Amino acid sequence: QYILGIETSCDETAVAIIKNGREIVANVVASQIESHKRFGGVVPEIASRHHVEQLTIVLEEAMSQATLEFKDIDGIAVTEGPGLVGALLIGVNAAKALSFAHQIPLVPVHHIAGHIYANRLVTEMKFPLLSLVVSGGHTELVYMKEHGHFEVIGETRDDAAGEAYDKVARTLNMPYPGGPHIDRLAQVGEPIINLPRAWLEEGSYDFSFSGLKSAVINTVHNAEQRGETIKPEDLAASFQESVIDVLVTKTLKATEEYKVNQVLLAGGVAANKGLRNRLEEAFGEINVELVIPPLSLCTDNAAMIAAAGSIFFEKGQRAGLNLNANPGLDITIHNQ
Ligand code: ATP
Ligand code: MG
Ligand code: FE
Repeated sequence: QYILGIETSCDETAVAIIKNGREIVANVVASQIESHKRFGGVVPEIASRHHVEQLTIVLEEAMSQATLEFKDIDGIAVTEGPGLVGALLIGVNAAKALSFAHQIPLVPVHHIAGHIYANRLVTEMKFPLLSLVVSGGHTELVYMKEHGHFEVIGETRDDAAGEAYDKVARTLNMPYPGGPHIDRLAQVGEPIINLPRAWLEEGSYDFSFSGLKSAVINTVHNAEQRGETIKPEDLAASFQESVIDVLVTKTLKATEEYKVNQVLLAGGVAANKGLRNRLEEAFGEINVELVIPPLSLCTDNAAMIAAAGSIFFEKGQRAGLNLNANPGLDITIHNQ
């Protein structure tokens, strides 16, 4: 079984081909980061235009990497949402055109389901499992009792973890996306600045990072006004410590309460060194398997979309040529 995946939800134009759900035979990602950098964030119109320009090139590159023809492809998996509507539309329309031209079934995929299924390219998934999803737009704990079934047991009430990283980085005058810069800085700093941790109500698996983000910004401004200097590396380390503390504590608690067999890390912030190390430490002490994808499968790519698409394809999930981009798509659409 060969599934071709297409991902254009944000600022990566990506096409990949996966064999039998687990084996990458082609994986091409064209990143637009350089074009958005000078604006300090993703500009939707620029993203759409880049997707239009890049998608055919990326598609051809993937097909040639795989040395396959369209008659060999069993299903076309495409990110239906969530994401930027104009960006999603480019991928959805390309997928529909290919589906129509070559008579290949169309399989719609939720972007976050894709992030979670990046882990299936690393190892077999063992249910029930829990996934900690930390990305630019999402921070969630997702419980899965079986393939293709998603239950969000906690989510952010304001900023996503990646969003908080990017905003804090901007305050420290670092280029977009700031996550990797803060991560690097944090490794040489000391977490000596006292910053808040939002635990929320007892028993809640929800998250909140906007208070922390504001606390960092206030700390910088107050220091400036008093003419004091704070080492940016210490601020980065303190911020990162606060984020990781909450993420790891809540993940461990849910792991215990839901008695899962496996915990999967997913999303762009899964590339964070501090988070990876701390989770590995914590799970080294308990008898639950922790899976962390390689960096290239943490940030946006189409291999993860094809990996998820492979499961939904087997479950018979299909879309017609009336498929539309859905920027606010709910992950539970896959639960059938
Ligand atoms: P979503 O998946 O929620 O739709 P997205 O696709 O834009 O959002 P991803 O591509 O999954 O997000 O992740 C990008 C985010 O990951 C950015 O906010 C970026 O700063 C963050 N990020 C990447 N590497 C690191 C790192 N090493 N440490 C912290 N954050 C990181
Ligand atoms: Mg991106
Ligand atoms: Fe993403």
